[in-house]
Amino acid sequence: MYHHVKKLMFEVNVGEADPRFGKMLLEQFGGENGELAAAMQYSVQGMNCEDPARRDLLMDIGTEELSHLEVIGALARMHLKPLRESDEAAMADPLIALVGGGGVGLHNSQGAAWTADYVSVSGQLEVDLRNNMAAEAGAKIVYERLLKYTDDAGSRDALKFLMAREIAHLKAFGRALESMDKGPLEIGDLPADEEYVTPYYNDSTGDGDAGQDSEGPWNTADDVEVVENPAFSGMAVS
Ligand code: MN
Ligand code: MN
Repeated sequence: MYHHVKKLMFEVNVGEADPRFGKMLLEQFGGENGELAAAMQYSVQGMNCEDPARRDLLMDIGTEELSHLEVIGALARMHLKPLRESDEAAMADPLIALVGGGGVGLHNSQGAAWTADYVSVSGQLEVDLRNNMAAEAGAKIVYERLLKYTDDAGSRDALKFLMAREIAHLKAFGRALESMDKGPLEIGDLPADEEYVTPYYNDSTGDGDAGQDSEGPWNTADDVEVVENPAFSGMAVS
């Protein structure tokens, strides 16, 4: 059951409206890493979730994302205000002025329509939680980039709040994943064949202008076996 309360989760104030920045903010309204995508992703995952504790988590965060949508929508509308009041500003941005009347709509900063293709709902909890961690990381970095393009104190406060909440969600989803009764490489029910899990194929080789062969725990750990140049060896698909 949803209920709307007539207050914003974080108070939004804008000193001087900047329509170009308002358009950039639409990325977090109707864009790929935006608040609507997050709200739909976690809420629909929650409806499918049969683990009562993690279902509660998904519904808590999915609902909070709708409150974020309202905050970013309010902030974007304040910055887009000149498009509703000035012919010159409106003519500089016909999409927003003519189609949306100078308000927010379900499209990204370039006018591409929001799509459910932005949303990952796998029906497998450990997969959903990983997708959510990636989504939170994506949202965090878009807020960080947006912060580069405004000096307005009120806008910065709201964006910093929203950015911090994405890290809070990343923390929660990570803990929900770690606390599941599954190891980090256990996905689904079928075990993967160790014979094919152990090899690390060194498929990009040679030292040159485009880089060099490198080492890290992905190819040096005890449970990994490096196979050099498999394309040039006897390995073949049969
Ligand atoms: Mn959010
Ligand atoms: Mn979030």
